[in-house]
Amino acid sequence: MAPGLRSVAWMILSVGVAIFVCTRVLKKLMQKQGEQDHDHNASQLANQKNPSSPRATKSTLPQAMPPQSSWSAAVFEAIEWRRFEAVCEGLFAQAGFQTKAQSHGADGGVDIWLYSQHAPGPVSVVQCKHWRGKLVGVKQMREFFGVMTANQILRGTFVTSSTFSHDAQQFAQSNGINALDISRLLALIATRTADQQNALLKIAYEGEYWRPTCASCGIKVVARTPGKGGADFWGCSNYPRCKAIIPMAATNA
Ligand SMILES: [Zn+2]
Repeated sequence: MAPGLRSVAWMILSVGVAIFVCTRVLKKLMQKQGEQDHDHNASQLANQKNPSSPRATKSTLPQAMPPQSSWSAAVFEAIEWRRFEAVCEGLFAQAGFQTKAQSHGADGGVDIWLYSQHAPGPVSVVQCKHWRGKLVGVKQMREFFGVMTANQILRGTFVTSSTFSHDAQQFAQSNGINALDISRLLALIATRTADQQNALLKIAYEGEYWRPTCASCGIKVVARTPGKGGADFWGCSNYPRCKAIIPMAATNA
């Protein structure tokens, strides 16, 4: 072979090898990029599924009790106070009242105002206490009666997920207050149609039904870890403007 031809052959071979190597390297690079994209997408997906901060997803978060398909005391156990109020409001709306909830801030001792088409102004008021394992006493009942009197309302309803002390019940009876404890509340719900009961269940389990609401701001609280160690607690997401905290034990009982 002539020297000129040989060098041309070498050149063709070198270019061929170079192209081959470049293609392999490019292929590898693209594969790697693809993997990275996948990882990126996966982590994005994970973030979408769990939008709260890592701190709020700690394993110490109280576990939500799964929704029940029918009414029982377990429903009230699983839900936070704001959902309880919403169920009470739904119950009165089903009875034909127009309702106005006043569930956070300075509520003046009234949680729900009830209106009728046939009368101007509120016709009745409702007080809700979503308490667990603590009796509602005569003190709370007297305060509620004070609110009724101040608003010139003759009939009020006091609803609780707990029960009333004996003197609270007596006070209610002699002052036009309908006292609904958990068993009377469940009995009342049981008188409703299946559709109405399901509608109330839907209200109970709406959104993050287990996560408490800040009583001052009306927004959901978030899980916080004390900087100096100790038990996690629920804190208002308006912190530092709102310093309200709720111990997790109180909501996880
Ligand atoms: Zn707050």
